Amino acid sequence: MPFWKKEGPSLRACNFVICVLFLVVTLPRCVHLWLKNSIKMSEKFDVIIVGAGPAGCAAAYSLAKTGFNVLMVERGKYPGAKNVMGGRLYAYALNRLVPDFWKEAPVERCVTHEKLTLLSDKSSVTLDFQDKELLEPPNSFTILRARFDQWFASKAVEAGATLISNIRVDDLLWKDKKITGIVAGTDKLEANIVIAADGAVSLMAEKAGLKKFLAKGFAIGMKEIIELPEKTIEERFNLVSGEGTAQLFIGQCTRQIPGGAFVYTNRTSLSLGIVVYINQLIESKVEAYELMREFNSNPAIAKLIAGGKLVEYSVHVIPESSRTGLYTDGLLVVGDAAGLLVNSGITLRGMDMAIASGMAAAEAVKIAMGKNDFSKKSLSHYEYLLKQDFVLKDMHTFRRSPGFLQNTRLYSLYPELVCRLFHRLALVKGPKKRLFDELLEETKGKRVQMVWDLIKGLRAL
Ligand SMILES: Cc1cc2nc3c(=O)[nH]c(=O)nc-3n(C[C@H](O)[C@H](O)[C@H](O)COP(=O)(O)OP(=O)(O)OC[C@H]3O[C@@H](n4cnc5c(N)ncnc54)[C@H](O)[C@@H]3O)c2cc1C
Repeated sequence: MPFWKKEGPSLRACNFVICVLFLVVTLPRCVHLWLKNSIKMSEKFDVIIVGAGPAGCAAAYSLAKTGFNVLMVERGKYPGAKNVMGGRLYAYALNRLVPDFWKEAPVERCVTHEKLTLLSDKSSVTLDFQDKELLEPPNSFTILRARFDQWFASKAVEAGATLISNIRVDDLLWKDKKITGIVAGTDKLEANIVIAADGAVSLMAEKAGLKKFLAKGFAIGMKEIIELPEKTIEERFNLVSGEGTAQLFIGQCTRQIPGGAFVYTNRTSLSLGIVVYINQLIESKVEAYELMREFNSNPAIAKLIAGGKLVEYSVHVIPESSRTGLYTDGLLVVGDAAGLLVNSGITLRGMDMAIASGMAAAEAVKIAMGKNDFSKKSLSHYEYLLKQDFVLKDMHTFRRSPGFLQNTRLYSLYPELVCRLFHRLALVKGPKKRLFDELLEETKGKRVQMVWDLIKGLRAL
């Protein structure tokens, strides 16, 4: 018989002490855990936001400020940990939510030089646009998402939102064909309204039946961050402290695949990368990393990044023309998740569209909460707000742009032509012709096509 089963006065006393200890120490803990768990399971939020990117943070900040009980769930270790972008934020939308945000947000440089470079095999032509209005009020800033998203999420938390990071939302909760919350692992959390702010490949929009993924609606972006001393960046880009350059490249850098490349100056690093349409990349059988390697070794780029240290490499998709439904019973879709992005060739705008749509979603939620009506009909006010604001107006204005930008001549014929024309104009190696004669010679046999492209371009961009 084991000793604890042996009878005797001392053992009985021992058993008694153990029982008392169990009752005093363990039982209250068990009761506490059970209560905590049952509170957690029964807690209902006003709004649950899936994703703490710019769209999610804008909605969370806006709602928490008004006193709503908001939960933001982010799959990254921290907001921004998994996020990729070229690195330029147009200030207009965020400035309405957080006036003069650049005084507190971790922005890198205010963009004062807008450059466009056309690249051919041997030469390049660069336009450098400068204007006082790029600076006052600031038109755009270069940013690093890992730092920017953390700042934006912390604003929402300071305003009262709850943030849980490192948790992936796997599914939506449904009741009577209405969305009533989220599922993350074994946890089920309820809310009056869920906001899907989970980016370009939105699982939430798909689960809600609002999205189907087609590769042709997407572009793919590859990006590197290369560290360089602050002074070196300012010398190479001819900048004064705090000012920055956004430089776009079109032509040989994508091997004529529709798309382009970019270089943005941060304070002590450069963000550079390539964006190409996925379908055409697959058809071309070119490996994405090869494009990136060639871009880095192009003489126009190599001298900008010389001596720099590669500190980050990332790849992400961009919803160039992949609109989804914007709402359904109990759910709103914002930012990239809804395909709200405008690429007009020179400007790629996803961040400001994401922020403005997050703000509009928050306004729609406030009205729905006031009526205690979370139906599809009630939430359709979100679309109305997007139409009143620039988001759906710009999406409509530039609706032909993704189609036009897939014209391969934009990346082969035209950059080549401009470079050859400048070559003829700049070089003096004998008798010279007038500009008009050079132009006629260079465009021989292509003029009808060029006029058509011009008409289409003017309608699209
Ligand atoms: C290479 C590249 C360059 C770009 N350059 C620019 C630019 O210069 N300017 C510009 O304005 N836009 C640019 N964009 C577009 C811009 O990045 C996006 O439009 C913008 O980030 C959209 O914000 P969002 O909040 O909707 O989505 P995201 O920024 O993608 O945020 C979504 C968030 O949701 C989280 N998430 C996803 N799934 C889940 C889940 N299941 N559970 C929990 N969390 C989840 C993600 O981790 C992420 O934090 C660029 C994009 C790329 C790829």
